[in-house]
Amino acid sequence: MNPHAAPPVTDDIKPTTKLDMTADVSLQLLEQATDGVVIINERNEVVFFNPAAEKLWGFTEDEVIGRNVSCLVPSVYRADHDSYIYKNRKTGVNRIVGTSREVTFENKAGDYISGEMSISTALLGPEKKRYYMAFMKGVTEESHRRKLLDLQNTVFQAISNDMQVEDVADLVCREVESFVPNTVSAIILLDENNRLSILSGPGLPRRYAAALENMVLTEGDLAALGNDLSEANSIVWDSYRSLGISLGLHNCWASAIKSRNGRISGIFALYSRNQYKLSDWPQKIVTGCVPFCSVVIENYEAQQHISQLANHDSLTGFLNRTAIHTVIKSMIDRPGDNEFAVFMIDVDRFRDINDTLGHQNGDAFLKAIAERLKGMSRSNYILSRSGGDEFVIVMPDSDEEKAVAFAESLIKAMQEPIEIAGNLLVVSLGIGISIFPENGPDGESLLGHAEIAMRRCKKEARGGYCVSSTADNRAAQDRLLLGSALRESLAQGLLNLHYQPQIDVRNNTLYGVEALSRWNHPTLGNIYPSRFIAVAEETGQIEAIGTWSLERAVQQILEWDAHGIYVPTVAVNLSAGHFRNRNLPGFIARLLSDSKLEPHRLTVEITESVMMTENEDTNMVLQAIRNLGVALSMDDFGTGYSSLSRLTRLPLTEIKIDRSFIMNLEHDANAQAVTTAVIGIGGRLGMTVVTEGVETVRQLDLLCQLGCDVVQGYLFARPMTPQKLEEWIREDRLQAVLQKALEERTAIGA
Ligand code: C2E
Ligand code: CA
Ligand code: CA
Repeated sequence: MNPHAAPPVTDDIKPTTKLDMTADVSLQLLEQATDGVVIINERNEVVFFNPAAEKLWGFTEDEVIGRNVSCLVPSVYRADHDSYIYKNRKTGVNRIVGTSREVTFENKAGDYISGEMSISTALLGPEKKRYYMAFMKGVTEESHRRKLLDLQNTVFQAISNDMQVEDVADLVCREVESFVPNTVSAIILLDENNRLSILSGPGLPRRYAAALENMVLTEGDLAALGNDLSEANSIVWDSYRSLGISLGLHNCWASAIKSRNGRISGIFALYSRNQYKLSDWPQKIVTGCVPFCSVVIENYEAQQHISQLANHDSLTGFLNRTAIHTVIKSMIDRPGDNEFAVFMIDVDRFRDINDTLGHQNGDAFLKAIAERLKGMSRSNYILSRSGGDEFVIVMPDSDEEKAVAFAESLIKAMQEPIEIAGNLLVVSLGIGISIFPENGPDGESLLGHAEIAMRRCKKEARGGYCVSSTADNRAAQDRLLLGSALRESLAQGLLNLHYQPQIDVRNNTLYGVEALSRWNHPTLGNIYPSRFIAVAEETGQIEAIGTWSLERAVQQILEWDAHGIYVPTVAVNLSAGHFRNRNLPGFIARLLSDSKLEPHRLTVEITESVMMTENEDTNMVLQAIRNLGVALSMDDFGTGYSSLSRLTRLPLTEIKIDRSFIMNLEHDANAQAVTTAVIGIGGRLGMTVVTEGVETVRQLDLLCQLGCDVVQGYLFARPMTPQKLEEWIREDRLQAVLQKALEERTAIGA
């Protein structure tokens, strides 16, 4: 028997009948209302049920008149419904005129349906008695869709407003739970090893969460998910159904989350505590949330990668350059008598090994060396790789004597050859040692002295060690001399700018050029910026170089214009220190107005160190420069302290992925993951993504596949004098390069 059927009419109780409409105009109007109208008497029995209500609930008028109104609400609420109404009548809650709220009701088929309900009272019928009535507007597909869209917008906003990704995930879960009463939801991650972990599941019972955590999916599971995302249900529910039920969960909807590169990156699951069959709305929510869950996960993964990269070297797992500075600083700051040694270790002839045996073997070689260094070190030593073949070890509680003993043991340990690709390689190290506090008050000078000692030792004898000495202090003095030479050259106009083309690979045209400083000293010869920019920074000349290169670059682009050579934009490198100067935006504004150059033809490149020292002034200066209409580019992205959230906060127009990632792109999954993530995020934030250091066709193709916008590198051209660049453009050498690349591809394909 249908449990919802009307009770049999008996003669001894006067049945409740429908309100008599003949004498009441307002009832006749309600009959025709487009909203469902349900009127009940003081015993909560239905006395009026208009055609719109019939359509919403699927009951006919005859089926509900005289029955308790609880037959219209979800079965889980039925038992308490009378007392709920009683309370509301007494307090007047839910009867504030004009307010409506969203409620769930249950239709004849037993499905849950959402509606917007408002309640009021009226004097009706021939006796003008007070009746309660509910107006119910069915919630349409459209309003469901709007809810999901609202949630999506909230999520994107939260991400760009710098909210922690974990918190964004929690927000998604909480919101979704509010969409369907009595549910809990979870965003579950799937890592590279196919292991599940919970990114967010604030309402999920702990034991259930624990059961899901660390579950490893089989290849079969993955294949099934690949074919049908909703197969996720069987993974996060079927295997744990009885546990779920024992914890009060009775139903589950789930869908796998696919990242943009097609990988399954997680599962979104919604569990219900109701035992009853629900509408298909929960399934629609789950499916609707999957796209932005994918964005949430992508951001999470990128954040993980970048924080790992910010402190660790992906090849050896040692700390990286940035992190070692922090560590040394904290050791110096440690109270008490505190002596320690810093070792700068360079592998002799690493370049040759890399060149002859190839990049992959070069990496394997470095890894083997790293393992030996680790094997020789005590657990409290701090190990780092600061650059290609350069390692730094910090040895706590060490004086010169102990340090020398350790250096000797390292050299001895390296005598055993390392086998790489069938070759037995003997490792020879150059080790420079500096001691705190003798050799300097801070990390900069300790590392600097260790490096100078290491260079001396490599010059004097391969395979040895040197302790920082007065001779090295002389080297430091040389730097000062270089500083004064630089000052002189700058004054005499002996510095000049070279320009390197940047190619827009979306349409194979010139995107712009980067201006790079060159210093040709009459007696010292060509000095590269990697050397003199540091000197300029140490000797307080970096701002002078910055303003000079801005002026020079702007002049240059105007000269090209005059020659009928169109260079869309010129990018100038500015150092972090320069951004602390509040006059910088004013200087640029004047430069632009004096030269009448359109602002978008100038790009300013900043490095992550600008963000490291982020303060109010820096932010203001950046914003003011951007407000001029000048483009702002984040250079060397991925090498420093970048957090994605900072990226979104700065008014950037462009991100340049650091050369080190491109170098490793073909072999290093980590470099690929970061590149992919940065390209994705840059695209979403509306920034142009530039990659530099592109040297091979293979790298170019990979980057194009990943959706990179602009590339720069030796493959296209080295930095050139203005005249050479002019020729390069006139002779359309870009097309020549593209043609050659095409031939190379065909040759490989053939
Ligand atoms: P950067 O801004 O990252 O510049 C790119 C560097 O990569 C340039 O080195 C460029 O010559 C080099 N490069 C470009 N394509 C390739 C390639 O395919 N392969 C390889 N191996 N290298 C490539 P450069 O000119 O020696 O400049 C080194 C750094 O010095 C620059 O790095 C920049 O940080 C700094 N610098 C250069 N000029 C200036 C300047 O005027 N002001 C400031 N503050 N810094 C400058
Ligand atoms: Ca640059
Ligand atoms: Ca760069």
